[in-house]
Amino acid sequence: MKRVVIIGGGVSGLATAYTLEKLHPDLSITIFQPGGKLGGKIQTVKRAGCTIEEGADSILLKSGSDLERIIEELGLSGDLISPKQRSFSIQRDGILHEVPLGLLRGFPENVRSLWKCSLFSLMGKLQATLCPALDYLFPSSAQGDPSIAESLRRRFGREVSRYFFETVFGGIHSGDAESLSFKSLYPDMAKRRAGGKYGKARFVSFREGMNTLPKALSSALRRTVVADSVVSSVRQDESGIFQVEADGEFFAFDYCVVATPAFAAKEILFELDQGLSAALAAIDRSSSAVVTFVISKSDVLKETRGSGYLLAPTEGGYVTGCTFSSQKWDGRAPEDLLVVRVFFGRNGGVREVADEELLSTAKKEVRVKLGVEKFQECLVTRWEQGLPQYVCGHEEKLQRIDSRVTNFPGLFLTGTSYRGVGIPDCVHQAVVAAKQLGDLHQQQSLERFESEFHEGEAYGKSVCA
Ligand SMILES: Cc1cc2nc3c(=O)[nH]c(=O)nc-3n(C[C@H](O)[C@H](O)[C@H](O)COP(=O)(O)OP(=O)(O)OC[C@H]3O[C@@H](n4cnc5c(N)ncnc54)[C@H](O)[C@@H]3O)c2cc1C
Repeated sequence: MKRVVIIGGGVSGLATAYTLEKLHPDLSITIFQPGGKLGGKIQTVKRAGCTIEEGADSILLKSGSDLERIIEELGLSGDLISPKQRSFSIQRDGILHEVPLGLLRGFPENVRSLWKCSLFSLMGKLQATLCPALDYLFPSSAQGDPSIAESLRRRFGREVSRYFFETVFGGIHSGDAESLSFKSLYPDMAKRRAGGKYGKARFVSFREGMNTLPKALSSALRRTVVADSVVSSVRQDESGIFQVEADGEFFAFDYCVVATPAFAAKEILFELDQGLSAALAAIDRSSSAVVTFVISKSDVLKETRGSGYLLAPTEGGYVTGCTFSSQKWDGRAPEDLLVVRVFFGRNGGVREVADEELLSTAKKEVRVKLGVEKFQECLVTRWEQGLPQYVCGHEEKLQRIDSRVTNFPGLFLTGTSYRGVGIPDCVHQAVVAAKQLGDLHQQQSLERFESEFHEGEAYGKSVCA
């Protein structure tokens, strides 16, 4: 039986194992995951009767996607919930402006939403209404890989791009929209001409929290072994077998899937190929943190509107936004409690800041915005190097990685650092990696069968002779 190792038990590693088990029952599979803590950046905890997301809190689920199919196969479709709120706010010059979700949709819904929104000046609204038409009539001849900011300035004008799109996309990625690649992060939007259609997609979460997905994936695994170990290196011997070093011991595998972020893969693969390791190191990443509070509603003195708010990049500081989780999703807290998440990640400062400072800054933010003085529960979660940054030129970086990986048949890289950071993208890449591995396995099995058959034929002939 051929042996597969999957390094990393986040959603990418789990979806790889799930797909391999379904398609190739003849493979034995081992996942290495430190602490056996499956799910990676999808972690849900319970505090004071509340459901708290430490990492991802929603999924943009496209119809017809691999993730939608897997959710159906796992019997989770009935557990999906939609956000209760249809708006959020953006802070500009210290003032919160309510923004309808329609601004993220296509023409004409976004234009109607734009004109209702107090975030922009009259000039900004006029520009944003006329720019798409100009962009349509005189398409940009700019080639290459423009940033999110550059692309959206052209489509919607400077003001709407700055205060809306750069705030939203910069916040999601804890990064700078001036340097993030539009086509690598939002290929559908980048291809779409102004006024075109968005694919059918909806924001969802799970009734019992996001870890429903990794839990169901791991429960569906029948033959996969999860080993609680840190992988430090991978080598390939002359016969093509991968020697995986985990917690000081060596294990042999026929196929190797590295499903960790690139910054971890670069360490693991250093001894295999320093060139590959250097190519992986070139993928930028940023650190972020989330401080979650459970607050009694009776202690909230100011209005909490919509699902929360984001701070425009011009506001300074490293708080990027705040979500009223229990107001956004059903069932996250008992009636009398509010779950609030404060996000940090702008301006690169988070790594150097101690937990105590994050906590006091988050408390100050909530005190100012909600008038809250008492906090029932506080939880600080740090995501060191947790968000890959697909900066302009990301595709060339991927090509360099791919060209090195092809030198090692049986080696596959998958996960958040490469072709999409959202959970559905990670699942799609995992399915692709599993299928490629399966194809190679079938091809090698066929070659082995043919060579054994010819050997047998030759032996039969020599015996008969
Ligand atoms: C704060 C935050 C909020 C987010 N919100 C959303 C959201 O709302 N919606 C969305 O779609 N996406 C969101 N994302 C992104 C999304 O969660 C991730 O892209 C996705 O979960 C990554 O999955 P992964 O399996 O590729 O990587 P990871 O989740 O990082 O999993 C990799 C695993 O590899 C393990 N590992 C690392 N090194 C080793 C080693 N040496 N040996 C063995 N194992 C190792 C790690 O422990 C980890 O479990 C968010 C991310 C963050 C940080």
